[in-house]
Amino acid sequence: MKLDMTPVLNKRMSVLDFEFTLTPETVEGACDISEEIELTSPIRVLGKITDINGYMTLKAEVSVSYDTVCDRCLAPLSDELTFDFERTVAMNAASVEDCDGDDIIWIKEGKVDFDADVIEELSLELPIYHLCSEDCPGLCSVCGKKLDGECKCADKKEIDPRLEIFKKLLENSEK
Ligand SMILES: [Zn+2]
Ligand SMILES: [Zn+2]
Repeated sequence: MKLDMTPVLNKRMSVLDFEFTLTPETVEGACDISEEIELTSPIRVLGKITDINGYMTLKAEVSVSYDTVCDRCLAPLSDELTFDFERTVAMNAASVEDCDGDDIIWIKEGKVDFDADVIEELSLELPIYHLCSEDCPGLCSVCGKKLDGECKCADKKEIDPRLEIFKKLLENSEK
């Protein structure tokens, strides 16, 4: 979304509030989000640009819902992500001391457009590892079924090897 900075640039306002939603498909130059993640809501962006004597900062809260799968058992799961997005807003390179371009949103023709930056930050903030539960046991390496219940491999073993040791100890002690 293009945000009109005119009220701030004309010094009529020192705080510009904004709220909008976006979807990666509609953003030109948006980076890719992990293939394992499927966004299930538009990306919500809520924040403000504050001008303190010409030094402008943008602070926003970004939130989105998504579907993915458990990395251990492949069960589908849904999650939400909320993160803070902060940038410096500047007219031209001369007005900022640190010209590390990634953290700066440039004003072009009186407007700022940081949709692609939000999506890039989102792709970095998304967890790379998801679990359906903290103690997900994962899948059995023998039958490929989930270890808590569906896998019956353990039942097929006649005697648990740990019990076998106790059995021998018991036999020895009786002698
Ligand atoms: Zn799992
Ligand atoms: Zn199994």
